[in-house]
Amino acid sequence: MSMLGRYFFGNVEFPENEEYREFQYKFLMVLLAVAALATVGFIIPSESGVSQIPAEHIRSMTLFTIVSFVLWLALRGRKQWFIPVVWLYEIASLLELASAMAYVPGDELRILWLFTNIPGAYLLLGRLVGGMVTLLIVTGLVAGNPYMTAPYSPNALATAVISMIYSAAFFHAYANRSVNFFMRMRESNSQLKIMATRDPLTGILNARAYYELCDSLIHVAQRNKAPYSVLFVDLDHFKSINDTYGHAAGDLVLKSVADVLVQSIRRSDALGRIGGEEFSIFLPNTSFHDALGLAEHIRASIASIALSIGDGQRKITASIGVARNEHSEQTMLEIQQQADLAMYRAKAGGRNRVSSLEQTS
Ligand code: GH3
Ligand code: MG
Ligand code: MG
Repeated sequence: MSMLGRYFFGNVEFPENEEYREFQYKFLMVLLAVAALATVGFIIPSESGVSQIPAEHIRSMTLFTIVSFVLWLALRGRKQWFIPVVWLYEIASLLELASAMAYVPGDELRILWLFTNIPGAYLLLGRLVGGMVTLLIVTGLVAGNPYMTAPYSPNALATAVISMIYSAAFFHAYANRSVNFFMRMRESNSQLKIMATRDPLTGILNARAYYELCDSLIHVAQRNKAPYSVLFVDLDHFKSINDTYGHAAGDLVLKSVADVLVQSIRRSDALGRIGGEEFSIFLPNTSFHDALGLAEHIRASIASIALSIGDGQRKITASIGVARNEHSEQTMLEIQQQADLAMYRAKAGGRNRVSSLEQTS
């Protein structure tokens, strides 16, 4: 938000899934400010003798200006006050309207003020309340007509009622559409986000999203001077599974391994599929000793997966390289390369094992 926006709307933050609430909040803030300023625009010429408005109505307009301004001030930076503020504003507008109907017979077109309430009710309070406010205004107008100081002709009244129903129908459709639009936007945004950051086969982070997350986890770790480690998991002889049983069987293996990995890590750890049968795990706040322990646990869990492939049970194993942060300027690329080298050491050592560059054997 710009400086001006921050001043006008106050310090409010709306989460990503509340775009429509944010629109309603800002719409109401603008409405309150415009209502206050526009009413002053009526009072000043009248007070200076340019136009003639009865004193009673000047008083109610002054009150309305003050109420609108106070409501704007109250809502500024406090989105949780939205509902009471809308209702108070709606009530103040209706009273202002009643005052115009009762005290300003000289303005035959004052009936037009009725319309200004309908869009506000629809956009701010939704379709149901919008419809109810319309019904209330129409009923009030028809029932109150004989008591008005300058009764409208039945024709004028019929025109007013019909055009009110017409604009209500328009706003009903508008509110419907915009709510649907925001819902669909939200849905497709979250779909897009999933598509852009997740590996479609396993549902875990893809390489790009994983490295991005690791970069920020490293920044946090460096700031807190906390240790962190990376595990690099590569399946053993995976190509032979594809070659013997087909690609679909290979995919099944990848999914099962990803499930085991998801279940083995903490919520604060990061897991990504960074290659065909290669996974990387970033462990924030984890000592080298604990990282080796987790790697061994994961190795054993993968080795215990028994998949029914072909006509028998097929075992899979993985080689895991472990690396830890060594200096305060270390990048994700560097530590991942260390984990890579450690993984090759595990392959060279006979596979189905955990290795690091620090082990002498
Ligand atoms: P090593 O023990 O040395 O790691 O042997 P390997 O066969 O696992 O190693 P290699 O890197 O040669 O083989 C990886 C294979 O993974 C090659 C490719 O066919 C397969 N692969 C990569 N991505 C996918 C995938 O999305 N689905 C399936 N089914 N296979 C994949
Ligand atoms: Mg590989
Ligand atoms: Mg492999």
